[in-house]
Amino acid sequence: MSVSHGFYIGGMVVIGIYNLLVFFALRDRSYLYYVGYVLCILLFLASLNGWTFKYLWPQSTTWNDTAILVFLNGTMLFGILFAKHFLELKNLSKRLNIQANIWVGVASLCFITYLSIPYNIGIKMAIPFAALACFWTLFSGFYAWLRGHQSAGIYVISWVGFLVGGVLLALNKLQVIPRNIITDQAIQLGSLLEVMLISFALAQRINHERSKRIYAQQQALDFQMQAKEQLEANVAERTKELKFANEKLKELSDTDQLTGLKNRRYLDQFLDHEFNRSLRYKHMISVLLIDIDLFKSVNDTYGHLVGDICIKEVANRFSHQLRVPTDISARYGGEEFCVVLPETSIEGAMIVAERIRKSINEQKIDAQDQGFDKCISVSVGVFSKIPESSDTVSSFLNKADKALYTAKENGRNRVEYFKASSLGSK
Ligand code: GH3
Ligand code: MG
Ligand code: MG
Repeated sequence: MSVSHGFYIGGMVVIGIYNLLVFFALRDRSYLYYVGYVLCILLFLASLNGWTFKYLWPQSTTWNDTAILVFLNGTMLFGILFAKHFLELKNLSKRLNIQANIWVGVASLCFITYLSIPYNIGIKMAIPFAALACFWTLFSGFYAWLRGHQSAGIYVISWVGFLVGGVLLALNKLQVIPRNIITDQAIQLGSLLEVMLISFALAQRINHERSKRIYAQQQALDFQMQAKEQLEANVAERTKELKFANEKLKELSDTDQLTGLKNRRYLDQFLDHEFNRSLRYKHMISVLLIDIDLFKSVNDTYGHLVGDICIKEVANRFSHQLRVPTDISARYGGEEFCVVLPETSIEGAMIVAERIRKSINEQKIDAQDQGFDKCISVSVGVFSKIPESSDTVSSFLNKADKALYTAKENGRNRVEYFKASSLGSK
């Protein structure tokens, strides 16, 4: 055995061990079939060249002949299995995958046959079979290459070298060409080159698989991000809707249904808040109580429907007289209303009260379809003060009410402000 043969065997063994280790690491069956392939091709060529006979089984001449057939068949079997998995024929072509399975079946049957027939008949069967399998494998590689399979290019190129060597060897064995140095060395060189290139293709495949995995992870991550953003957008949208609905609900619960003014509940809260604020900062606060004059007779003469129209129109008119955003008007009860003017002096409050009184009395209330087309009037009681700690909201309201009573006393359709001793009019 020459140095080149030693180098060849060493190279094949190293490649075999390396791929076996990769198989243990990755558990990808392609590597295992590949190791089987490398081992069979090595043993086949070693048997063919008589090295196994010389070093492994010097006593067994019959087995040595059969071994050539067995390892050639093993090369074919593992080559086909490797092609099937490496080229992913299952996903690539249904037909090629079925053919691969048939090949596997044939190769398995051949094992039994070769063990039971003489070498000279077996070799005549094995060589055409192996050559055919070789071409089929090459064809599958080409097919996969054309269909864009990542590593099929290297796979095909690696096969060409082996094929050339194999063809030369087969032609020699079939006694078509005489044996010489080229027929002896070509298959070894071709197979070594082939296994090296396929090792490279397998390594490239790991890389490709990794890229695919990273891509899939990225996709999953992107999808997760998108879903999260969508969820956040939905939550924000729902929160907005909920906030809007809550505001609407609050507005409804603060509003008097008939007039659209603030209701008594809201007024109480607002007065409390403004009263305390004015107490703390020593600001003047003015309260106006407004009551429709002789309203009972409107109700009695024209009915409650007209009464309601009047209440609504009164509310509408005087709410337009408030020009400062912090002022509020509320329905105090029945046909009574309350206006709160924070940080407003008595002079200012009297001007507003007078403006309100005038706005209601200067124009008829138009409810002709109900038989009512008359002017009505209101009386207004005003109280203004910088609150002191002895004061309360109800004391403020009481005083405004007293002023209102005075306005009624003094003839209605007028404004009065509260005075502790005598009640002044305007
Ligand atoms: P005064 O000038 O002294 O205020 O005379 P008045 O008739 O208006 O007397 P009072 O304020 O006591 O009358 C209240 C009447 O207002 C009693 C009720 O018939 C009527 N009223 C109270 N609330 C409503 C309401 O929501 N709708 C209608 N239509 N009438 C109401
Ligand atoms: Mg009243
Ligand atoms: Mg009244």
